[in-house]
Amino acid sequence: MAVPFRRTSKTRKRMRRTHFKLSAPGVVSCPQCSAPKMSHRVCKSCGYYKGEKVEGVVNE
Ligand SMILES: [Zn+2]
Repeated sequence: MAVPFRRTSKTRKRMRRTHFKLSAPGVVSCPQCSAPKMSHRVCKSCGYYKGEKVEGVVNE
């Protein structure tokens, strides 16, 4: 089994972890009610998509 030749320093470890960040993909604010919603999905809080009311939304 390969063994690390050198211990990773605190700085190197932290530098590597600068790239670890959470992202919320495709979250946009609704143009209708300005609540955060997933893009290309019907808004959960107002039930609108592309400026039109969409029928059959459960969570209304
Ligand atoms: Zn909305």
